[in-house]
Amino acid sequence: LTSEDLTRACLERIDAQNPTLNVFLSVDPEGALEAARAVDARRAAAEHLGPLAGIPIAVKDNFCTTDFATTCGSRMLEGWVPPYDATVVTRLRQAGLIIVGKTNMDEFAMGSSTETSAFGPTRNPWDTDRIPGGSGGGSAAAVASFMTPLAVGSDTGGSIRQPGSVTGTVGVKPTYGGVSRYGLVAMASSLDQPGPVARTAYDAALLHQIIGGYDPMDSASIDAPVGELATAARARSLDGVRVGVVKEFAGEGYEPGVLRRFEEAVDVLRAAGAEVVEVSCPHFTYALPTYYLIQPAELSSNLARFDGMRYGLRVGDDGTRSAEEVMNLTREAGFGREAKRRIIIGTYALSAGYYDAYYGSAQRVRTLIQRDFAAAFETVDVLVSPTTPTVAFKIGERVADPLSMYLADLCTIPSNMAGNASASFPAGLSDDGLPVGFQVMAPPLADERLYIIGGVLE
Ligand code: GLN
Repeated sequence: LTSEDLTRACLERIDAQNPTLNVFLSVDPEGALEAARAVDARRAAAEHLGPLAGIPIAVKDNFCTTDFATTCGSRMLEGWVPPYDATVVTRLRQAGLIIVGKTNMDEFAMGSSTETSAFGPTRNPWDTDRIPGGSGGGSAAAVASFMTPLAVGSDTGGSIRQPGSVTGTVGVKPTYGGVSRYGLVAMASSLDQPGPVARTAYDAALLHQIIGGYDPMDSASIDAPVGELATAARARSLDGVRVGVVKEFAGEGYEPGVLRRFEEAVDVLRAAGAEVVEVSCPHFTYALPTYYLIQPAELSSNLARFDGMRYGLRVGDDGTRSAEEVMNLTREAGFGREAKRRIIIGTYALSAGYYDAYYGSAQRVRTLIQRDFAAAFETVDVLVSPTTPTVAFKIGERVADPLSMYLADLCTIPSNMAGNASASFPAGLSDDGLPVGFQVMAPPLADERLYIIGGVLE
């Protein structure tokens, strides 16, 4: 099989499925085939190529790409083509991966269903009346529907893991600073982390090794080796591994079908030699409200750059209006409801006189969450929980109720708060035939532990 064959097969699959699923915002068939032929030629010339050379991949539409528009799912950036590639994209190209297109997402990565995209919702390939998760629903659905074997996403509060969970794919949020954010359009800078989407732990590990590692262009990048992640994904034994089940992530609000699959997955870990104990992390229940202060605060500051002057959309610039009027008209027209809601919340939380009460206290709770993790990791090697309390919900079901939408990230947010490594692996199907995800959380820079667990679950 040549890369050209494989790329052609993916493009055919995209042609057939994309009109229904709305996974890709842009596809470049000619560019992809040309890149594939170039890899085939290098292989024919016996050039040494990496393990994923020639493999097609989808990229979430918040990574800058010089050959595709980068919209972040927003009218604000419709048609905007960045002048440079994100580090993740550069590394994909260097490793010979074939970027076939850019995937749909919630607007500026705010959401858990891909419904806040200005370009319509993505549909879940398992049931097209249901959401594929969010914000990276496009990347997860691309992999789940066999349009591409791999994708990359970004995870600020769960946007790689929760879509992974509800589409039956593997989604990894590496340690904060493990994969460069350079060229990833900033959402909440202290939480944003790019990571791999794949169908197996091993594939995700290979991709993680390509995109991960130090980058001087990201001030938060960690100068440490990525680790032998692919080897970890094939370890297949959990002898001597201590697994902590998070006590707080069960009970009311968790679907019985989700909890059953979770328990069964824990049994698989036990059978592979793991010692399983229950662990209490009392501050995890405050992670969600804390996130919804810190995230909007950082977001409101990051989205201030979309003012109609520098990038993308500009409205009302007819020579009669002041710059401020043009900025207001542009932001009014360019941002959707959820973006506006969060800009208002964030601006309020950061305003003089309120900073201490809101952002300041949220930062203090964040420290308590980090301490819960630190205490837990003194006795266990990894923590586990369901990735999200329910299976994929119906499109439209939670749109009118932001709080119910936010609950989808209840279990994923603590890892972003602490900056540690975390992943969702498929744990089978619920009784009604929908995918359930199993979350694994590891200390910072212990990403290989995620893959050891993920490999055993396959
Ligand atoms: N769903 C969460 C939010 O809406 C997380 C998003 C993300 O990780 N990008 O903010």
